[in-house]
Amino acid sequence: MTGEREVLNFIDGAYGKGTGQRFFADRNPATGQVIARVFEAGAGEVDAAVAAARRATAGAWAQMDAARRAKVLHGVADGIMARLDDFVAAEVADTGKPFAPTAKGEVPRAAQQFRLFADMVALAPEQSLEMALGDGGRARSIVQRAPRGVIAVICPWNLPLMLLSWKVAPALACGNSVVVKPSEETPASAALLGEVMAAAGVPRGVYNVVHGSGPGAAGEFLTRHPDVDAITFTGETATGEAIMQAAAVGVRDVSLELGGKNAGIVFADCDLERAIAGEAMAVFHNCGQICLGNERLYVERPVFDAFVEGLKQRAESLVMGDPHDPKTRLGPLISRAHRDKVLSYFQKARGEGACVVTGGSFPDMPAPWADGAWIEPTIWTGLSETSAVVREEIFGPCCHIRPFDDEDEVIGLVNDSPYGLTATVWTSDLDRASRVSGRLAVGVVWLNSWMLRDLRTPFGGRGLSGVGREGGASSLDFYSQPRTVCARLG
Ligand code: NAD
Repeated sequence: MTGEREVLNFIDGAYGKGTGQRFFADRNPATGQVIARVFEAGAGEVDAAVAAARRATAGAWAQMDAARRAKVLHGVADGIMARLDDFVAAEVADTGKPFAPTAKGEVPRAAQQFRLFADMVALAPEQSLEMALGDGGRARSIVQRAPRGVIAVICPWNLPLMLLSWKVAPALACGNSVVVKPSEETPASAALLGEVMAAAGVPRGVYNVVHGSGPGAAGEFLTRHPDVDAITFTGETATGEAIMQAAAVGVRDVSLELGGKNAGIVFADCDLERAIAGEAMAVFHNCGQICLGNERLYVERPVFDAFVEGLKQRAESLVMGDPHDPKTRLGPLISRAHRDKVLSYFQKARGEGACVVTGGSFPDMPAPWADGAWIEPTIWTGLSETSAVVREEIFGPCCHIRPFDDEDEVIGLVNDSPYGLTATVWTSDLDRASRVSGRLAVGVVWLNSWMLRDLRTPFGGRGLSGVGREGGASSLDFYSQPRTVCARLG
């Protein structure tokens, strides 16, 4: 390992390697090459980060007028945009994902989140309620919002900076301090954000980053830390269960954005070309590594064959390879280990007698991509609803398509899942759109569209897809706590 970058912990406003100076390798999944040494936080560094965050909760940041905090956070957004190239380079190297959506979508979106939540808190009206008393007097209650304190932020690897900012921006806007544990697969942008925070004037200790993996490492040290007040997590359902157990000690609050097995429903009366294009995005975007992605598609029988053929053509036209080539649409999976997991589902599908419409393996890629975690976009038909491939989250660029005959049947099929994150419905009948969306057991329904996210709306899922909602006012509810001050007026 020579010549690669170093990614450091960021604690109390300073970068450091930690006392043990232990590091792990960060690989670019497009090439398999080691690109950085990531210095791991042990229990001592996590203690130091939580202590720094605790000190900061008693300091200027938490006491600051929300409008002034908002100004600083707009500075963070400006700083992200000023260093767009650095953030995009960090994200593309860590994930292998195509350059264009990262530069045009994810990184600007991260900046936008700092602006939105800063403004929401600064402009939030204070609630004031007056009440008549039995003796003829009156009382007025004012509901104030106080920061929660130290928030542990545990992030996944699929949209690293965007999902981190989705939590850090409202947490900071509400006056909290955070200790962030980015995924061990994608540590670079979280670390880089420390420079932007410092330059924007965020006081030391308010934003801290510790690196490492989960169990028995930085993730667990942080979520079990007794001086953390609340934990926000995005990742797999099994990890969410472990974190919820850790949070039970000390009765800490949690927000859990977990996995999904989302469905797309295509009615015969829809604009079929639009539905095919939309579902191609929902299945293959980010190489299927997106919690909102669809892995189960249900298509009304009269248009089933045409839909399957249309999606197959889309899948086969996706260009893989160099993230910087504007023609590239499909990046690699995050790692060879994740590819092994996805391939195990490809094998299960074959074993259970699926018809493989396209894909089903991994491609032979030329140098320098030959050792990357590439995978073929894959479509199956013909599996039963009890198949593991249809029930479990795979998190790859793949889907199973099944025909259906009527509305009640398809609603039953979609709702027969332990997950309940999102669903898409394609129809030109407005009555049906309203009827069907009202019966789907999910947190978000998209009609004739996919992944349109207004940041002011609540986001989250039911069942195994999570606990709580974030976004807009829901984020402010999680990252602050109400304090009611009641006065007798005479
Ligand atoms: P993961 O659960 O493996 O890891 C997420 C984070 O948790 C990482 O930082 C990891 O180091 C940490 N972690 C793991 N075990 C831990 C433990 N015991 N204690 C504390 N921290 C621990 O998830 P992933 O593979 O990084 O991400 C993919 C998953 O995330 C998918 O299931 C996907 O559906 C889900 N996801 C959900 C949403 C949503 O909003 N619902 C969004 C994106 C991703």
